[in-house]
Amino acid sequence: MHSGDTTTPAERLRLLHDEYLTPGPAPHAERVSKSTEPSTPIRLAVYDHIKATVDELTDFADVNRDGRSAAPRPPGVENAYRWAVEETAHLEGRRARIRDAVIYRQGLEHAILMGDTKAIRRHACPDCNTWGLTWHRQRETVVCLNRYCSDDDGQHTTWTLAQLAENHVDRQAATAARAT
Ligand SMILES: [Zn+2]
Repeated sequence: MHSGDTTTPAERLRLLHDEYLTPGPAPHAERVSKSTEPSTPIRLAVYDHIKATVDELTDFADVNRDGRSAAPRPPGVENAYRWAVEETAHLEGRRARIRDAVIYRQGLEHAILMGDTKAIRRHACPDCNTWGLTWHRQRETVVCLNRYCSDDDGQHTTWTLAQLAENHVDRQAATAARAT
């Protein structure tokens, strides 16, 4: 059922790296609809995206390390997540949720970059709680299609990926708290 995004951000980041940046036969070709080699602009966009992703994780770890000594980030883009979580394993409560939301939002960004906008639909709308969310490509935002879910001007409610990620992480934390 709808339980949020089930492919991990690390899996998606590795997929982006292997599919779009690594020359030669793609190891996961069946998982990405791609009839030709990625064009140079796409490769550059993916390269920039991966670099921005790893930079954000590195910055987050640096800012939230709280004086603990830093371990070097291991090679391999997919290892950046495990490393960032280990570097900030001492975080609790709201700060831990902020880290988890950053990672979760990045996973959604990876999915959208590779055309997997279905990842958005696996979330209930934070406002009306229905399964009417969709990705609006031109506006680059999440839109709730529930006609009763709108703002004061009658426009469909919209969400940023960061808002969707924060809501998902908060809901998970609330569920976990109820279970204990
Ligand atoms: Zn809604």
